[in-house]
Amino acid sequence: MLQQILNPQSVAVIGASADTLKFGGRVIRYVVDHGFAGRIVPVNPSAREVCGIPAFASIGAAPGPIDVAVLAVPTPYIAPTLEECGAMGVKCAVVITADYAEVGDEGKARQDELVAIARRHGIRLIGPNCLGFINPHLNLALTSSVALAPKPMPKGDIGVVSQSGSVMASMISNARDVGAGVSVAASIGNQADLELCDFLDYFAADPRTRAIAVYAEGLRDAQRFIAAARRCREAGKPLVIAKSGASEAGSRLTQSHTASLAGTYPVFEAACRDEAICLVDDPERAVMAAHVLARFAPPAGDCVAVLSPSGGTVAVAADRVTRAGIRIADLTPATEARLRNYIPATRPLNPLEFGGLATSKSFEVNTEALGWLRADPNVAAVLLAAASAPQVDEKIKRWGEIALAGDKPVVLLLCPGSLVDKGRDELRRLGCPFTNRMDDAVGVLRAVLDYGERVRRVRREPERPPDAQPAARLLDRFAPGTLTEHEAKSLLAAVGLTVTREQQVTNAHEAGRAASALGFPVALKAVSRQISHKSDAGGVALDLHDEQAVRAAAVRIAAAVEARVPGAALEGLLVQEMAQGEIEAIVGSRWDAQFGAVAMVGLGGIYVELLHDVQLALAPVSPTQAMALLQALKGWPLLAGARGRGRLDVEALADALVRVSWLAHELGPRLLELDANPVLVRRSGEGVIAVDARATLA
Ligand code: ADP
Ligand code: MG
Repeated sequence: MLQQILNPQSVAVIGASADTLKFGGRVIRYVVDHGFAGRIVPVNPSAREVCGIPAFASIGAAPGPIDVAVLAVPTPYIAPTLEECGAMGVKCAVVITADYAEVGDEGKARQDELVAIARRHGIRLIGPNCLGFINPHLNLALTSSVALAPKPMPKGDIGVVSQSGSVMASMISNARDVGAGVSVAASIGNQADLELCDFLDYFAADPRTRAIAVYAEGLRDAQRFIAAARRCREAGKPLVIAKSGASEAGSRLTQSHTASLAGTYPVFEAACRDEAICLVDDPERAVMAAHVLARFAPPAGDCVAVLSPSGGTVAVAADRVTRAGIRIADLTPATEARLRNYIPATRPLNPLEFGGLATSKSFEVNTEALGWLRADPNVAAVLLAAASAPQVDEKIKRWGEIALAGDKPVVLLLCPGSLVDKGRDELRRLGCPFTNRMDDAVGVLRAVLDYGERVRRVRREPERPPDAQPAARLLDRFAPGTLTEHEAKSLLAAVGLTVTREQQVTNAHEAGRAASALGFPVALKAVSRQISHKSDAGGVALDLHDEQAVRAAAVRIAAAVEARVPGAALEGLLVQEMAQGEIEAIVGSRWDAQFGAVAMVGLGGIYVELLHDVQLALAPVSPTQAMALLQALKGWPLLAGARGRGRLDVEALADALVRVSWLAHELGPRLLELDANPVLVRRSGEGVIAVDARATLA
């Protein structure tokens, strides 16, 4: 359906005028100036013609059929105009006018009315509060954005969607600057009807689109977004997104660790990683990364070559690349031998400075070195930083040709500024991606390498641990709300996690007897649904060695809880074995209103919030994926056996994560949050054990 809307045969501009200071005036001007070959219908109540084309007093008076009508009239006229469009059989209305859901409840009501009218007539809506769209392949600039004042439109293979109109305009302008072109660029505004995912679906199927660059603020439907992203991936079209809202993370106030650590943006980031979506910091970079990914195959590894004719430039580039966590490749002996024919023995070969060679072959080496390094099987991508040098524009042109002749991503950095404007022109003509600043070059390289890794290990459907009890049945025993530690642990145990042996009792005397039965030493804890951090409330006593110590601790705990958490109901005492481990981890899950069940793993026990060393993933996760999450923790070396300490049982920790993720997946929205914290991780082969747990049921 978008196929017909974005490739229309006839367009009407309602509110067309000769005044380009008005929205409708610009739309009609750009439609005419860029030479749209379809039928153009200006609508204006008082003009006989606009831009040399006969105008109509109303859309009802215009001859049909009309595929797309742009509505650029004041807010009060929009609803009646839309009714008229409906009567005319217009297929799609692009509502440029603002003052809808973005201004609060009243605006939202106006917007709902538009949607109702559109539904009644079977019209699809783009907007309101948008700047329209362009389809350069049809010379159609159906937008009020001044980014379309210059001609021609950048025609190409990047699909652009932006929630913000002016960001779409910047992306079109950026694309032009870096020699990229767009297949379609659309600004979707309030997404009252057609939304981001409709456009992703269009691009997935559109033969003119090879990569997609998106600017998004919020997602209307996260599940649909994931499905659309999958279709893009399956169609071999890299999806690059810049999304604002990173700083709202953790704004939700909740009790559990997992909930406060798994904010909205981090969950979105995890979803992007798992679905092989390339996430970048800003819209300009989205365009650049899409341009690179449209030209080259996803990198097959994570090591790069860095080269420049300038020693200074290559040094800075190598520093920046390394600081971004990118590895410099070890070259194979064959590549080294080839380079050594020209490069003095005193110079390293990667990063490579290939300038200043007193040889008649200087030009050849300067240009061909790119191809030689790229051919090395250990090199997954190349960063070439141009520098001022004789014949620099010719060299840049040659680098562009060499880059485009291969499959591996090459990021060209033109840092000498305007000195190499001619070189830029050459690259634009070739359609070869380039960047102008070190920051962009490194950012794009990082994004492209991450994308390659994501594609290589995209989330496969994980298998359910066969011995886990069906989760739904477990809940029958519990009332909604907070579970006690013992109850939460029974969920963990049912799906196969090892938890402490323990018994819940009601008084000090029973506690002593239970401890004897369990075997010393024991831990004793307060049981109360009102206390979320027991140790803060004086509700935990560890390492108790005899009955008397247990009884004394029971009295202390009761007094401390009463003093520190007035009104907390003490339901009893929990006597449990003392467990041993090398390191304290956290394994948890939470229900995200947008993305569904999210699993989490981290390090730090009670310090987990301070260290903030956690990884998230959409549930359920596979064992391979769980291991990758552990390896992504900053504290991974501690798990893997740092400083002569042996490797810990990371397989068992990964398995615990898999099981918790399945529990969360199967319970869905009934399990709001769950965490096992700490999970003590023992030496390799000795397993992990959950010594504390917390859960909240809906
Ligand atoms: P809180 O509600 O404060 O998180 P926990 O039950 O997690 O209470 O106990 C606090 C800390 O005490 C844990 O992080 C862990 O270090 C230690 N601890 C608790 N129970 C045990 C146990 N059974 N064996 C060993 N250490 C324990
Ligand atoms: Mg705890």
